[in-house]
Order: sequence, then C-alpha cells, then structure tokens
Amino acid sequence: MIFNAYCHVCGSALELRPCEGESTEIPYCVKCGEYRFAAFNVAVCTALFNSDYSKLLMMRQYGREKYNFLAGYITQGEDAETALKREMLEEMGMYPEKIEYLYSAYFQKSNTLMLNFLTTVKTESLEQASKSEVDDAQWFNSFEQAYEAVIKGSLAERLLKYVAPRFAR
Ligand SMILES: [Zn+2]
Repeated sequence: MIFNAYCHVCGSALELRPCEGESTEIPYCVKCGEYRFAAFNVAVCTALFNSDYSKLLMMRQYGREKYNFLAGYITQGEDAETALKREMLEEMGMYPEKIEYLYSAYFQKSNTLMLNFLTTVKTESLEQASKSEVDDAQWFNSFEQAYEAVIKGSLAERLLKYVAPRFAR
C-alpha cells in the first residue's frame, strides 16, 4: 500500500501503528498525534455522448497525438459531480444532461484514483472548447473509429470498451 513516508503537515517521519477499525497498520505522525492515511489524487473522467448516443466526444491535449476523454482533478472540498460539471464547462463549455457513475480505476503513474462517469449533452457544438486547454475536440461516430484514436492499453481504452455497448446502432 502506498502512503506518504512523511507527515504532510509537519514533515516528520511517519511510523506504522495499529488503528482501531483497520485491519492493517496505518502511518502515524507522533508529533501531530494523528494518523496519516494514504494520500493520493482523485480525478474524474467522462465518456461524453450526445443525447441519442450516436456520437462520443474525445479530445487531444497537451500536444499529445492520441485522443483521450474529458478529465480533471477534484479539488479539496469538491464532490465528484461538481468537479465533473466544472471540468465540462471549463474545457468544452458544455453542461451535462445526464450523469451516471460507472467505475473507478487507480493509475499508479500519477498516484490518482480515477472516477469514471458517463455523461450526455444536448449541445453538440464544439465552438466553446477551451483554446488553452484543448488542442482538438472531435465527435466520434463509432466505437471502431474511437478505438483507433486512443492509446492501446490505456485507461481511456478501458473506458471506451466499457461504454462501447452504449453506442446507438
Ligand atoms: Zn505531523
């Protein structure tokens, strides 16, 4: 289990101690007198369809070649649905019509727990896409087309396979 070896508040080295209600020992800061549970980032990601599920939105960002789903980190104190709405608005200028939680996946490289959603939007216009955050946003008309656009073996590919049956035929 990954945990911060040092207290994020005072910087002291943590030690493992038994903690009531937990089956494993938990990092503890002696100076603060508090347990420090595993620290990780939490982000939201969404497969974003138009209203009739005939098109799926993906985007290219940060100069990358392959497409990915709309995603963003949850800020402290924010709930996942609020973060999702905020990211949709910031990146695409879109408001969700329906929001459905799908599943979570841990991404070790960035120590991030990704909460995957499925959303639909009424507006299909890509005019409001953020010029600074989005290199290119595209509607994909089929699973096959979208599959070609993502990195093989990525979390994006897994989400794509998960939502493939939703594509209207
Ligand atoms: Zn401390």
